[in-house]
Amino acid sequence: MQVIRLEALSDNYIFVLNEPKQNIAAVVDPAEAEPVLQKLQELKAELVAIFNTHHHQDHIGGNRQLMQQFPNVIVYGGAEDKGRIVGQQVFLQQGDRVEFADRTAEVIFVPGHTRAHIAYYFPPDNPSETGELFCGDTLFAGGCGRLFEGTPTQMVHSLSKLRSLPDHTRVWCAHEYTLKNLQFALTVDAENTDLQRRYDEVKTSRSQGEATVPSLLGVEKQTNPFLRWEQPALQLATNTHDSVQTFGRLRGMKDKF
Ligand code: ZN
Ligand code: FE
Repeated sequence: MQVIRLEALSDNYIFVLNEPKQNIAAVVDPAEAEPVLQKLQELKAELVAIFNTHHHQDHIGGNRQLMQQFPNVIVYGGAEDKGRIVGQQVFLQQGDRVEFADRTAEVIFVPGHTRAHIAYYFPPDNPSETGELFCGDTLFAGGCGRLFEGTPTQMVHSLSKLRSLPDHTRVWCAHEYTLKNLQFALTVDAENTDLQRRYDEVKTSRSQGEATVPSLLGVEKQTNPFLRWEQPALQLATNTHDSVQTFGRLRGMKDKF
C-alpha cells in the first residue's frame, strides 16, 4: 500500500491509498474531489473506499462528487457522525477493523475535536516497517486539534490512545500547521533541545515549500506539547501539577496564540 499526499484548499492534505497490483485506491478525508480524481486517473485506479475521520466540510467536501464518479465506493465514518457525513454507509466504533487491499486498519475512537472523530491505524506488515496513522484533526505535527465538541479530559484520553502506538508510526494529519504549532511549542517548552532542532528543520522545509507531513510519532512524543502533559516543564508553564489541566491550559493558550 502506497500513501500519496495531495494538497487541497488552503492548508489541507488529502491522502490517497494506492494498491497498484489491484488497480484500486482509497482516499482519506477528501476535502475536495478534483485533485483526487486527477490522481486516480493518473494511477488508473478505481476508488473503492472513502475513509472519513470526522464530519467537517474540509474533510468530506469531495464525497458527493467522488461517489458520482465511483458509484460502488464505500463511505466510512464514525458511528456518532451518523447524519453528518455525506454518503456514509459504514458506522465505525473503537476497535472495528476496516480493510483496504491486503491491509487492515484498526479504528480508534478519538473524540475531542468533534464528538465523533475517529482515526485509522494500519499496523506495519512487519516490525521493521512503519505503521500508518490517519488522525484527521486530532493530532497534528507539533500540535492538536481545537476542542470544538469535546473536553480536555476526552482529548487527553484520545491522544493517550494515539501516543501508545509505536514510535515508528507515520502521522498523516490533515493540515499543514506544523511551523505555527512549533512556534507555540517553543513558548511553553523552550529548553527542549529536540523541539529546538525540529523547529529549525521545519522552518527550513517550509521556506523551501516542502510538506512536513507525515511526521513520526516518536518525534511527536519528544516535541509535541499536546502529548507531553506529564512533563515538568509543561506543568510549570501552565502552573499546575494536574495532567488534564496542563493539557487544557495549553490548549487555551494555543487558541489565543
Ligand atoms: Zn476538523
Ligand atoms: Fe480540518
